Amino acid sequence: MTLFPTKLERAGDDTLIIEWSDGQRRRYPMRELREACPCATCREKRREPPKPATLLPVLSIAETLPPRIASMKPVGNYAYGIEFNDGHNTGIFTFELLRSLGEELPGAGS
Ligand SMILES: [Zn+2]
Repeated sequence: MTLFPTKLERAGDDTLIIEWSDGQRRRYPMRELREACPCATCREKRREPPKPATLLPVLSIAETLPPRIASMKPVGNYAYGIEFNDGHNTGIFTFELLRSLGEELPGAGS
């Protein structure tokens, strides 16, 4: 059986909570989701070696903002497309990926 989100909830400014079809609730810091973006561009970036410490990083204003989710749209019946507040919207987060991220919240019954 494929697990799928049954409820999306914002907790505060920077946290997303997803309730799953098996009853599990997981919390996702939006920064974690941004850093886990599975699109080709971000995967490429994560593969780059870290920059030498002597070079000051040049960040655009958007990059200095704490990552936030601007919108989430279902993609087919297997994923969500997440747009972030830096304008990045090419990441397709499959349910499988989402399920592997974040951390489980203690359930009401357990
Ligand atoms: Zn990306």
